[in-house]
Amino acid sequence: MDLLVIHYISLPPGEFGGPGVVELFTNRLDPAAHPFYASIAGLKASAHFLIRRDGELIQFVPCGKRAWHAGASSWKGRARCNDFSIGIEVEGSGEAPFTDRQYDRLAALTRALKARYPIRDIVGHADVAPGRKDDPGPHFDWARLRAMLEINRHAASKTGTAKTPRRQPRAKHKLR
Ligand SMILES: [Zn+2]
Repeated sequence: MDLLVIHYISLPPGEFGGPGVVELFTNRLDPAAHPFYASIAGLKASAHFLIRRDGELIQFVPCGKRAWHAGASSWKGRARCNDFSIGIEVEGSGEAPFTDRQYDRLAALTRALKARYPIRDIVGHADVAPGRKDDPGPHFDWARLRAMLEINRHAASKTGTAKTPRRQPRAKHKLR
């Protein structure tokens, strides 16, 4: 796995905090629970990680295994991004900004993943499936995420303990 793909998701669309996303990713979504759910019944979808609005991190799929998050996709000439990417769903929509806690968690998770896997690029779903997908959408602040990752790198190199930036996992969860 050498690519991170960032998505947003909310179920029902635009509603946060409910059990729908977890149910979808664990194949337990009840088609009768909401009109929208009937339209996605039987959809095979999963992601490695979900970051909820309060920053809670939930892992569904081991990082070394394929998850079904990217669909028909390609990046830098390589098709089927699911084969080589880790999918991170950030609970959100195209209409609302993401939360501070989500950025904090996402930056920590990204650092942890980069320490463990040869991650070359961090992209959005829209970047690997242009025209078909638009997440993580207009409210996702790429500059903010990049700045958070940069600050960590500079802070690490300023300690003088390592010539190359230290990339220690900060996340409390165990990577599988
Ligand atoms: Zn997506």
